[in-house]
Amino acid sequence: MAETSRPSTTASPILPGACIGVLGSGQLGRMFAIAARRMGYRVHTFSPDSDTPTGQVADIEFSASYDDLAAVRRFASGVSVVTFEFENVPAETVQAAAELSPVRPAGRVLHVTQHRLREKTFLAEHGFPVAPFAAVDSQDALERALESIGFPAILKTAGFGYDGKGQFRISSPADIGPAWNSSHDPMRVLEGFVDFQCEISVVAARSQEGEFADYGAIENSHHRHILDLSLAPARIPAETAARAVDLTRRILTALDVVGVMCVEFFLTRGGELVVNELAPRPHNSGHLTIDAHETSQFEQQLRAVCGLPLGSTAPLRPAAMANLLGDLWHQGEPNWAAACGVPGVRLHLYGKTEPRVGRKMGHLTALGDSVEEALGRVQRARAALLAHD
Ligand code: AMP
Repeated sequence: MAETSRPSTTASPILPGACIGVLGSGQLGRMFAIAARRMGYRVHTFSPDSDTPTGQVADIEFSASYDDLAAVRRFASGVSVVTFEFENVPAETVQAAAELSPVRPAGRVLHVTQHRLREKTFLAEHGFPVAPFAAVDSQDALERALESIGFPAILKTAGFGYDGKGQFRISSPADIGPAWNSSHDPMRVLEGFVDFQCEISVVAARSQEGEFADYGAIENSHHRHILDLSLAPARIPAETAARAVDLTRRILTALDVVGVMCVEFFLTRGGELVVNELAPRPHNSGHLTIDAHETSQFEQQLRAVCGLPLGSTAPLRPAAMANLLGDLWHQGEPNWAAACGVPGVRLHLYGKTEPRVGRKMGHLTALGDSVEEALGRVQRARAALLAHD
């Protein structure tokens, strides 16, 4: 699953003992920091918060606003490379960091992927399959766009949306006013509704030399717009999975990504692949790679941004991942011992103290002899969290 699209160059790698800077401080940064520290790197994290999932395992936690460019420069001057776990940082923040340290993936990858309209335009202009879309900046423009895109459609904020936040489904003309008034964002994207049979993602890494490695197609299901379950390998035809990987390789090459990127797809009922979203970092659907693949997505990000050879992405066993949202705490502390008693199940918690509804607090990964067995185990383990005797 690894190949190279450009000849090797001789950039010297950033080696263990060096310090890696992470912009953002959530669970993705935490799992990255764990991988980096295991390999002997130091980690500094930067975000407006303190006692964060990443900060708890980093060497130094910088707590300052992303707009505090003096603090950003102090952070960047102390590290050998800056990467991120949260892509919605202002462009000025990335620029200030880039004056003092390489930033990987580069700021232009962030620029494209942190704004839905720029991302869709980039994909469409490069010939990648996307749902029909239109930029809309008023209710009139929305009405006109619906004439060509049709019902149902989804109105999304153009920038800074995640986990379905800022989305409104428009099923009939009666929804137009409420949809437009559901947000103050002056620029939105109207997207045709894709009648999909399933959603899949491909997590992949690309090195400075153009080496590419992927984890194959992962099957995802969402609940209330938030990822609920991921299964690897996806239960789709091998030819479809190969097409998704090929599209992913071409997207990472077109964007000249150095690091890990996740491409989310809809698989339509007719068997077509439609790109939904890009994430220029490790992704929730790739968390199962920690337990189920020879090299996790987090170690792969580290290797890519440090200029080390990419690791093997060979699967160890079929796997299933279930997210643990704050909702699970509504009857008190979940029954961890019961979940850990299910064979093949591993618990990952992110160190968050406030279990809010919809907040990602951790995940469970189960391995099995088949995806179905792994899925059964992870569902049993998650149900066991609520068993209070
Ligand atoms: P997003 O935040 O854009 O990834 O959307 C979150 C979820 O909403 C997706 O994973 C889908 O389940 C659903 N969704 C988003 N856009 C569409 C679309 N154009 N057609 C059908 N379902 C969608």
